[in-house]
Amino acid sequence: LVEMLQVNKHFGTLHVLRDIDLTVARGEVVVVIGPSGSGKSTLCRAINRLEPIDSGTIRVDGVSLPAEGKELARLRADVGMVFQSFNLFAHKSVLDNVTLGPIQVHRMPKAEAESKARALLERVGVADQANKMPAQLSGGQQQRVAIARALAMDPKVMLFDEPTSALDPEMISEVLDVMRELAASGMTMIVVTHEMGFAKASANRVVFMDHGQIVEQAVPAEFFANPRSDRARDFLGKIL
Ligand code: ATP
Ligand code: MG
Repeated sequence: LVEMLQVNKHFGTLHVLRDIDLTVARGEVVVVIGPSGSGKSTLCRAINRLEPIDSGTIRVDGVSLPAEGKELARLRADVGMVFQSFNLFAHKSVLDNVTLGPIQVHRMPKAEAESKARALLERVGVADQANKMPAQLSGGQQQRVAIARALAMDPKVMLFDEPTSALDPEMISEVLDVMRELAASGMTMIVVTHEMGFAKASANRVVFMDHGQIVEQAVPAEFFANPRSDRARDFLGKIL
């Protein structure tokens, strides 16, 4: 469903993505881990063209995203993204945050968008917060709204970039629960996270990055029990 072929990206002289080959099948859940600065966020941002690449190919469901224009907004809707900092529209209600995309991009009638939004808010456990402003919600609630907002666009793949790392510990599990449910429902997901419990429980594959390269990838049980590279072993020694 997602194909990255020989993708390269520089920031000035810094080579942040090096010959990235990554294929994610429909329904697959891939967890991306690696040290700070290894290029994990850049990889996510490249997939939905928040970050231009220097060379290589990125396709989602067989289609490369165009660089700009109306097509970009339409195709970008196929790639839902949830960031570390919730990025909700601060001056819009929770409900409006979730209906905006479908109304503006998919031209969905308002009533339909609202009933869909309410169902999604229910699914992520914040239906009772629909009329509040984002600032009135806890971090965990805001992040679940952000997930509902992304899902409202009916994405083919969901990208999560450290979705729980800005949260207080007691809120992490409520967001991970939603992500686990989403994974179990068959959503294709690429998840950058340090939550190894999520990786072990929900990932089909763990991808380890270092210095802009994919150093190794394996099923979680194999990766955690027996990392092949010294770099992965070092990294696991620090975080586990
Ligand atoms: P972290 O775990 O800290 O989030 P990461 O693996 O997500 O790290 P990236 O954010 O992808 O790493 O950054 C990769 C490298 O690119 C880092 O060295 C970073 O400083 C650099 N970088 C990221 N964004 C930019 C930018 N807009 N301009 C210049 N350099 C950047
Ligand atoms: Mg990052």
